[in-house]
Amino acid sequence: KRTPLIAGNWKMNLDHLQAVAFVQKLHWALKDAKHEFDTVDVSVFPPFTDLRSVQTLIDADKIPFGLGAQDLSVHDSGAYTGEVSGAFLKRLDVASVIIGHSERREYHSEGDDVVAAKTKAALKHGLVPVICVGETAEDLETHGASAVPVGQLETALDGVASSAEIVVAYEPVWAIGSGQAATPEQAQEVCAKLRQVVAAKLGDDAAARTRVLYGGSVKAANIASFMRQPDVDGALVGGASLLVDEFAAIVRFQK
Ligand code: 13P
Repeated sequence: KRTPLIAGNWKMNLDHLQAVAFVQKLHWALKDAKHEFDTVDVSVFPPFTDLRSVQTLIDADKIPFGLGAQDLSVHDSGAYTGEVSGAFLKRLDVASVIIGHSERREYHSEGDDVVAAKTKAALKHGLVPVICVGETAEDLETHGASAVPVGQLETALDGVASSAEIVVAYEPVWAIGSGQAATPEQAQEVCAKLRQVVAAKLGDDAAARTRVLYGGSVKAANIASFMRQPDVDGALVGGASLLVDEFAAIVRFQK
């Protein structure tokens, strides 16, 4: 049985002072609601400049949130100005890292080859890659929903060991920040196909244990409908992850 994962991708929002206040408030909100933390994994993905502060807070106050980064370099160290190594993230107790988000693919021209290299870099440094895949509105029209994300995941998983711990996030580009989420049935269909890719590439055991998330305009009002789908194991939340009460309500979804 897979533990659901609710992950907040803050994108380029909240500086390190705001981040500390936010994480404290979110923790209090969940504690006030008597949330049982072991039933759902909660992870936050702040900007790089926040990671040290959030890590210190989580450690000091024993806050049961996973800490993730939004990107990493394909390189370990060296003359790569502006890049951040997976080794540095690991030293900060960062557990996971988003890879191949559509905003990186679009604004930083990251192709499937870069996504595959970053996946390997994450695994090499003991970080769980949260591999993002998804079709644009144009892809949807010409190829249907699953062809592009399936191809993206196949490339990302080339050469990955069957024992690797990974997370897959299906994020249709047209659903991100648009207020127009996929239907639960659409999400289920693609997430099931992505799980088949994991099975084909890494084997049935990996497919059974790998969490496949849906992302794109997730909010408190629609999370339950996604979580009722057998192949949707959680959500990667953008805008709603910046609102304490809204995100707490997403974490506390009732199927
Ligand atoms: P929104 O939840 O704002 O649509 O963003 C989704 C996303 O891109 C998460 O990575």
